[in-house]
Amino acid sequence: MLRVSRFDPHPRARLLERPTPIQRMLRVEAALAPVLNGARLFAKRDDAMGLGGGGSKLRKLEFLIGEAMAQGADTIIATGPRQSNSVRLAAAAAASLGLRCEVGLRPLTEGDSINYRDGGNAFLDTLFGATVLALQDAAAATPFVEERKSALASEGRLGYVLPPGASSPRASLGYAHCALEIADQEQAMGLKFDRVVVPNGSAGTHAGLVAGFTLLRRRAIVHGFSVLADKQASHANTLAMARECTALLAGEEEVRADDVIVDDSHRGPGYGHLTREAVDALNFVARNEGLLLDPVYSAKAFAGLLDQARRREFKRGDNVLFIITGGTPALFAYRELLSMSSPRIGPR
Ligand SMILES: *Cc1c(COP(=O)(O)O)cnc(C)c1O
Repeated sequence: MLRVSRFDPHPRARLLERPTPIQRMLRVEAALAPVLNGARLFAKRDDAMGLGGGGSKLRKLEFLIGEAMAQGADTIIATGPRQSNSVRLAAAAAASLGLRCEVGLRPLTEGDSINYRDGGNAFLDTLFGATVLALQDAAAATPFVEERKSALASEGRLGYVLPPGASSPRASLGYAHCALEIADQEQAMGLKFDRVVVPNGSAGTHAGLVAGFTLLRRRAIVHGFSVLADKQASHANTLAMARECTALLAGEEEVRADDVIVDDSHRGPGYGHLTREAVDALNFVARNEGLLLDPVYSAKAFAGLLDQARRREFKRGDNVLFIITGGTPALFAYRELLSMSSPRIGPR
């Protein structure tokens, strides 16, 4: 396929074995019937990948670690909050490719629980054999990275530093490719998605999808729910990254400002801080479909999708695709906070 060959110039480490499944969420549809107007809801299971517990970061890491290996790097260096999914999947990817991995992890707040500190993703980082250093705060990340790079260089080794959240225009190629994967699956399913809903943190996922759908000449269908930056900053980051990603693909089609749709109404008190609506959404999808959202990203985005339905934004015949981006290990880090919930079920 011509479109796929646009990715050829970019080195890629294979971390996914096959396209992730798309499934209809029939029980969620039934529970939301009064507000869905007959629209159909689907989930793209980017939580269902074979490596390291899976998750959206693997798609972005394919192109980042691909570049690292093309440069001859032998060590991946990553930093993030203790429950970072990108750090966990970088550690797993490194283990699978015979690379070393060194990570610096910072707390989210002073009162982090023991589960947040040492459970979930933080536990898996060590299990995958990464060397973990505890950082005091976000400001300690740059000195850590610089120190490790030069220490490795003095041993004749080469470190490759992952960008924060594993987001960059190059990383977004993974989600541009995902848009093509979705288009192939649409063809096989005999339908087209009218809207794609996704969480937006460091913007690479959303930006890549926009770049990919722009390549396919489909505009303004991706709705991103910001969990990190406010609407304005998130829109600007995502647009810039989508444009640079399109340029990497030598696309003639220009990404327009209104192709990037960002909603920050479910960000709540900030990154990694739960909202009532996100906890409800997480419980709702778990109980009605047996599927796992994560507390930091996809639960907030699904809460946003529930609002869209309640505002009657969907109509009969619409096909809506929600991307379940993974992050399952974080559930165990947030378990005290999640079990305090008393879920309201249904459309309200
Ligand atoms: C990182 C992450 C996201 C957001 O992706 P960005 O590219 O950072 O915007 C969404 N969901 C999960 C589970 C993630 O780990």
